Amino acid sequence: MYLKSLTLKGFKSFADRTAMVFDPGLNVVVGPNGSGKSNISDSILWVLGEQSAKMLRGQAMEDVIFSGSSGRQAVGLAEVTLVLDNSDHTLPIEFGEVAITRRMYRSGESEYLINGAPARLRDITDILHDSGLGKDTHSIISQGKLDSVLSSRPEERRELIEEAAGISKHRRRKERSQRKLQGMQENLTRAKDIEREIN
Ligand code: ATP
Repeated sequence: MYLKSLTLKGFKSFADRTAMVFDPGLNVVVGPNGSGKSNISDSILWVLGEQSAKMLRGQAMEDVIFSGSSGRQAVGLAEVTLVLDNSDHTLPIEFGEVAITRRMYRSGESEYLINGAPARLRDITDILHDSGLGKDTHSIISQGKLDSVLSSRPEERRELIEEAAGISKHRRRKERSQRKLQGMQENLTRAKDIEREIN
């Protein structure tokens, strides 16, 4: 799986539709200060479902919508589409290519699409689950985060290494299974109580 393309329209400084195509392996985005490089990584976080304006370097979620410039009026809609190559079927979906879209209107109304079909944020989280990609994984390291990693406690640093090594997903699965098991045990206790009452 790799990031194949990213298309922004009305997102932060990208008023016009801007499409970027990436190749497998290392890709580098270069540009002068303030040209929008971080806005590109913000757009990836956002399309993957980020709900915190602060994580996107804004005050309110509306700040992701192009707010106008000297020669250009503000727009009413921000839209980002990220296309993942899934020919190796890392993502548990039959398609060889997965396009995730997020739209947000100034009214605050928001929508998600998967391969053009309306979807819930939950569907996107489910698809990305276990892939190592997602807003809560360490696949996106923003400026400043590196400093916090270097000054983090050993346990926090260990979490980061576990995520990178793919161990965290097994830990999450284990925790999920333990929760299920606990629920089952509670049900079993309740069933035994009822059985005792009947007898
Ligand atoms: P640096 O190299 O200094 O880190 P950068 O290339 O990462 O810079 P960004 O931080 O991505 O630059 O972009 C900042 C620019 O985006 C600023 O000019 C800011 O005004 C513009 N910008 C951010 N949000 C919006 C918005 N909603 N509407 C219009 N412009 C915006």
